[in-house]
Amino acid sequence: MNEPAMDAISKEDLLDKDRKYVWHHITPHNDNPMVVVSGEGSWIKDVDGNRYLDGMSGLWCVNVGHGREEIAEAAAKQMKTIAYSTLIQSHVPAIKLAEKLNEWLEGEYRVFFSNSGSDANEVAFKIARQYHHQNGKPSKHKFISRHRAYHGSSLGSLGATGQAQRKLKYEPLAAGFTHVPPPYCYRCPFGQQEGACRMQCAEAFEDAITWEGADSVAGVIMEPVITGGGMLVPPDGYMKRVQEICNKHDVLLIVDEVICGFGRSGRKFGHHNFGAKPDIVTMAKGMTSAYSPLSATAVSAWLYDSFKDTSKADSHLRHVNTFGGNPVSCAVALANLAILEREELVSRSAWIGEQFRERLQPLAAHPHVGDIRHFGSALGIELVEDKQSKRPAEASLVASYIASCKRLGLIIGKNGDTVPGFANVLTISPPLSSTDEDVAFIVDTLLEAFSIRAEDEG
Ligand code: PLP
Repeated sequence: MNEPAMDAISKEDLLDKDRKYVWHHITPHNDNPMVVVSGEGSWIKDVDGNRYLDGMSGLWCVNVGHGREEIAEAAAKQMKTIAYSTLIQSHVPAIKLAEKLNEWLEGEYRVFFSNSGSDANEVAFKIARQYHHQNGKPSKHKFISRHRAYHGSSLGSLGATGQAQRKLKYEPLAAGFTHVPPPYCYRCPFGQQEGACRMQCAEAFEDAITWEGADSVAGVIMEPVITGGGMLVPPDGYMKRVQEICNKHDVLLIVDEVICGFGRSGRKFGHHNFGAKPDIVTMAKGMTSAYSPLSATAVSAWLYDSFKDTSKADSHLRHVNTFGGNPVSCAVALANLAILEREELVSRSAWIGEQFRERLQPLAAHPHVGDIRHFGSALGIELVEDKQSKRPAEASLVASYIASCKRLGLIIGKNGDTVPGFANVLTISPPLSSTDEDVAFIVDTLLEAFSIRAEDEG
């Protein structure tokens, strides 16, 4: 690992200054988060010299793993060539990247670059509203999302988010967002049995559009699999059915690939697993493996073309941001995608998922494991107090498994606050570049963490 120059700051000083000056994201103030100093491959090192396997790839984002020299070199080279240019003009890395993304998307898309996943979703909402405005349906302005979904932290993307705990205290959010129950077969919101239902979770979109009034609905936004909201994998045919409903009502389908994109799902994009053809695809995290901030809103060519009407003076999109599509970030993305392709990390992701599926089978019998859910190399383990009642595991139980894994050298996560009492899904989403040994370490550590608990309880 490349060790950082610590500028003669002692460890104690660093921790003091952290407590004094840094406001940590979504963290209670009396917590003492670890200070990470370096990383290589799937491993990170903290200020105390402890090594951990980064089982969440940061925040589901470091797809190619840490410490990639060639990405650093691509960034440095671009900085020396030209570090900044707007996308009011154009620049070489953005042009190359937009073309490359079309290859990855396996479709004809035009790409609007921004900085974060939240930004990319905001842009999608604005494009959808303006599209309907310019096509004789200006009243179409609402978006339908799902309970438990997470779509970002800005007031619009948080409006699309279906997690009460994240929204309370910040309301009112942007208006015009409504939610339907998610596909959640383990706790079917419609009281149905998996495989023996009419997929009411998909039909719920038809109901919502009808009740809201089709003339008021601009779009549906969904992740292929709800990841941060608890790894909710939909039943077969769900996404295609939602797409049919959208098409019927002239509602745009926006697919949020911020986590599922760039190989996480075992295919290039999550929606490729479900045969859907989104009108708009949003992406961020894995596009640069988070080496540099960048996001994109990819818009179907036909939709982009509808903004080209030169007979209308103001038919173009009135959106700009200073850093969006920064040349250095685009160069980083190109280097990152080159690694994903050269090392065949998309199929590696599928392989990692198969390993989890096979080798973690013993977990299913554990009294605290209610359900195990997979999507490519992303894994969710839903914890319960007991299997019969399916009562969600208390926060302290969830925390104890996360702590056990950390003690054993593995960082894992849990789903975001959805509603009180439902932060009970452990999440694992390692770099797609994880070696055979890394994957074995994750599997062994998880099994050990659970057997430690089992022994603890006698
Ligand atoms: N969409 C999804 C599915 C996400 O998981 C996230 C972030 O975790 C976002 C959007 C927001 O991305 P960002 O944090 O880059 O704004």
